Amino acid sequence: MAFAEAARVVAEADRAFHAWRRLGFTERAEPMQRVGALLEDRKDALALLMAREMGKPIAQGISEVEKCAWVCRHYADHAHSFLVPEELPSDATKSYAAFQPLGVVLGVMPWNFPFWQVFRFAAPTLMAGNACVLKHASNVTGCALAIGDLFRDAGFPEGLFGVLLVPGDQVARVIEMPLVRAVSLTGSSAAGRSVAREAGRVLKRCVLELGGSDPYVVLEDADLGSAVETCVSSRLINSGQSCIAAKRFIVVRPLERAFTESMVHLMREKTQGLPTEPGVDLGPLARRDLRDQLHAQVTESVRRGAVRALGGTVPPGHGAFYPPTVLTSVRPGMPAYDEETFGPVAAIITADDEADAVRIANDSPFGLGAAVFTKDRARGERIAAEEFEAGACFVNAFVRSDPRLPFGGVKDSGYGRELSSFGIREFVNIKTVYVA
Ligand code: NAP
Repeated sequence: MAFAEAARVVAEADRAFHAWRRLGFTERAEPMQRVGALLEDRKDALALLMAREMGKPIAQGISEVEKCAWVCRHYADHAHSFLVPEELPSDATKSYAAFQPLGVVLGVMPWNFPFWQVFRFAAPTLMAGNACVLKHASNVTGCALAIGDLFRDAGFPEGLFGVLLVPGDQVARVIEMPLVRAVSLTGSSAAGRSVAREAGRVLKRCVLELGGSDPYVVLEDADLGSAVETCVSSRLINSGQSCIAAKRFIVVRPLERAFTESMVHLMREKTQGLPTEPGVDLGPLARRDLRDQLHAQVTESVRRGAVRALGGTVPPGHGAFYPPTVLTSVRPGMPAYDEETFGPVAAIITADDEADAVRIANDSPFGLGAAVFTKDRARGERIAAEEFEAGACFVNAFVRSDPRLPFGGVKDSGYGRELSSFGIREFVNIKTVYVA
């Protein structure tokens, strides 16, 4: 798409915004409910599209599309109550905060959940009365166009949701456009820095949902069987390519051996194959360069002393396949400890006790999710609520996003929140109204 065409899409979104912002919540909710229904109707075809473009196994693609329908229904039902003006007593006759839309909001999105990331941004943003333009990752342009079709077919005003087919290096020029009022990026920390820099330069609001290296702490009083099962599921979801996948497993010394054996056993049982085949747990990674980058992180970790307990070799043949891999004796200075590993690679780190485990969990540039496993729920809750430096902290469960709960990170994982009532308030003008 030529840049002039992108500018036309933005201008059209702005035109549509001026009528859309005047509609009531009930009128906005109608097409939002319809897009939810269309997602359900088209889920098989959309899952196939994801399988072809980025390798997601079909069953996981179907679940993803169903979750998108949920977020559409959620905001169609609740946007009104999330944005009801808040009375704030003062010396005025009447004073309150009202929540007004901003205008055109740019969404820069990644390929790993090509539908979910977009809908969790677009559903609240549109329900708040804004327009959206989507710049999707370059390897999922088919998904981007299919999402544009969904909004159009659901009866949203022409142009209110626009699709920009431009590469990442054009994003700064889009942010700079006067009609673009704010930007939401989901992607790597490197892209986050670049978008934040540009948004700062032109003084525009941004939300950044970036990478993660979620720690899962397994304490001596954990239910080992269920902890390992949860850890393996979280590490392998989306073939390991999830920002909130468990990446570092911090296990107290007495449990380490049993945990490792059990994890290796469960990871070995998983089936890897073409994403379109039934019963496949893991597909290939999305791109060969990403597979090679992951393998380089594993190789370098091993060179620095990590032990390969499972996997860690590139299989022969076509496709960007990478096997489920378990590394033990992982320590600071190794990529598996310091960096995000975006694939099915589990790093096991030994801790002396609870305090040491918490210290290791927080010893990361990232702060997206974290989990702790213990039969003592009060202990788990204390660690989750008070000790972890992360945006989403779970006890005896794997970290996942939910339309009802806020989602986002701290540190290099970004700032701002998506989902719940917090997410819909990111792209509004919190306007003080004072009547003397
Ligand atoms: P990415 O390379 O950062 O790309 C994400 C999006 O940003 C793409 O649309 C990309 O466009 C664009 N982009 C890349 N470089 C840019 C730049 N310098 N300026 C502006 N835009 C730029 O990330 P990815 O490989 O698609 O996704 C994986 C990463 O996303 C992981 O780090 C993962 O943890 C993170 N993620 C975070 C969350 C969260 O909620 N926190 C959720 C999912 C994924 P092009 O494709 O055209 O380069």
